[in-house]
Order: sequence, then structure tokens, then C-alpha cells
Amino acid sequence: MHFKFSGNVLRNQYRLYRLGIQCLVSLIERIESGLAQLLRLIYVKIKLLNNNQDCLKMPELPEVETTCRGIAPHIQGQIIKQVIVRQPQLRWRVPEDLNQILTSLVIKSVSRRAKYLLMTTSAGTMLVHLGMSGSLRIVTTDQETGKHDHIDFIFNNGVIMRYNDPRRFGAVLWTSEPLENHPLLKDLGPEPLLADFTGELLYSLSRNRKVPVKSFIMDSHVVVGVGNIYANEALFTAGILPLRQAGKVSLARYQKLVSCIQVVLQNSIQQGGTTLRDFVNETGNPGYFKQQLKVYGRKGLPCYACQQLLTEARLANRSTVFCTNCQR
Ligand SMILES: [Zn+2]
Repeated sequence: MHFKFSGNVLRNQYRLYRLGIQCLVSLIERIESGLAQLLRLIYVKIKLLNNNQDCLKMPELPEVETTCRGIAPHIQGQIIKQVIVRQPQLRWRVPEDLNQILTSLVIKSVSRRAKYLLMTTSAGTMLVHLGMSGSLRIVTTDQETGKHDHIDFIFNNGVIMRYNDPRRFGAVLWTSEPLENHPLLKDLGPEPLLADFTGELLYSLSRNRKVPVKSFIMDSHVVVGVGNIYANEALFTAGILPLRQAGKVSLARYQKLVSCIQVVLQNSIQQGGTTLRDFVNETGNPGYFKQQLKVYGRKGLPCYACQQLLTEARLANRSTVFCTNCQR
């Protein structure tokens, strides 16, 4: 009796000990992944500060739109057979049960909201964000996986949609809730290429705002998808000084700016269209297209309109290039 009692105590102590170790291990894992995330963030920030060429490759709205159009014909209407997650630690952890959730579901539609790709099924929606370096490619089963190929979505028709992301700032998430309530989507401003994005909207939202107009149009609560390069280019073609207070820009100039933003985005999407075949290519960087830039990256070079040398300022730590003669 006495012996059995101490056996129980020992067993209980052992259980507690094991539980303690498990907690400790999971805590260390959490700290480790948080630390890794932080280090990657610092690395990317330094690159941004140095205005490294790599930043030009960051997927912006046109790249995401091109990706959407590129993958849709291959996966729309197709049944998911299996999902293989090799690396779940992206910006947010990929859901543990993604394979279970998605297996046997049909992709009903592929669309885009801001820079999120939305893959809709009868049970919910998968959200994919390409982050700073992510890409989706359509490959076949015989194509070997590379170091940064983190997720494969295998379809019944033999097609594989492969998610690659060297810096791992992208995201693959799942929701069965209505999308309009999703925390990442619910506060977003209008799409820049749709009819509800107007000069009147920018004008009314900007009254009494003292922020520079460039920061204003890059704010995703105002309008989504106007990245740094596009903001620079659109402000140049609209003749608006990026540093001007948003509240001091007239309605007519906002109307001009809206059409300039739309033109610069449409041009880029059109250029992307010519690289659509890359989505079924096994190598290369799909869809990140070079653009004909008028001001971005041209500090100190002559303005294409008046030949005066272009000026650079840093706004919210982002390169801002403009012509003091053409932009007011
Ligand atoms: Zn000029």
C-alpha cells in the first residue's frame, strides 16, 4: 500500500516534469520563430533603406492581378487532391489543417482584393498574399521542388500550384466566414481600377488632412494598391508635388490624379499580360515586370518633360522622386 502510494506520487511528479518540459520546448519554439521573423523584418527594412534593386521586384497590385489572371484558367473549377506544406512559418502560420480543409473542395473562383488573392470554394475562401517575394506557379508533378517552394496545391487534373517565397513574408490563410468581415479586408479602401474610386472621393477624404498627398494616396484606407513606385509615377504625370498637403489639392487635380493612377496601374497590368506564359514555366521569376519609369529611380537625371534634374526626398522612409518644375 505504502509502496503503491509513493509510486503514484512518482508518476505524478514525472507527468508534471514532462508537462513542464513540453511547455518549455513550445515556449522556446515560439521565441525562436518570433526572433526569426524579427530578424527577417530587420533584414528587409535595411534593404528598403538602401533602396536595393530587389525592392523593385516586390509584388504590387499589377503583379498580383497578373498572377490572378495567370493561375485562374488552370485551377478554376478544379478539385483539390492534396496540399503539401513544407514550411508553415510564413508571415502568419499556415493553418495546421489546411490539407484536411481543402482536400476534395472545388476552386469556384479566383479573384483579387487589394493584394490578396482569393480562392473561393463552397466551404470558405483561401487568402493568399505574396508578401515581399512570394509567387505562385503552375507546374506539373515531374518538376522538382526548390528550397523556397513552401506549399504545393495538387489538383485532380495533375496540375500543381506551387507557392514560393524566399523571404517568407507572404501568407496563406483560410476563412469560412463572410469575407467582408475578415480583419485583413474589412477596413480596406476602394479598388483603384473600379468605378467607386473617384476624384470626388479623394477630395472629400482629404479635407483638413495635413499629410503629404503621396502618403495620402498610399494609405490603404483611402485606396488600395497604390505602391511607392506607382504613387511616384502617377503624381508626376498628374503634375502634383508629392510633398503637398493632401488637404490643399483641388478637386480638379484629384480627378486628374485618379486617372493617372489608373493609367499607370493599367499599363503595368498590360505589360504583365505579356509575361503570362511564365506562370507555367518551371524556372524564373514569374510576373515581376520591368516598367518604363518616368521618375522612380531617376534621381539627378533630367526630367523627360522639361530636362530639369529630378529631386529626391524621403517620405515615410520611401524614395520620392519628382520634378520641382513640372510638379506643384
Ligand atoms: Zn520637369
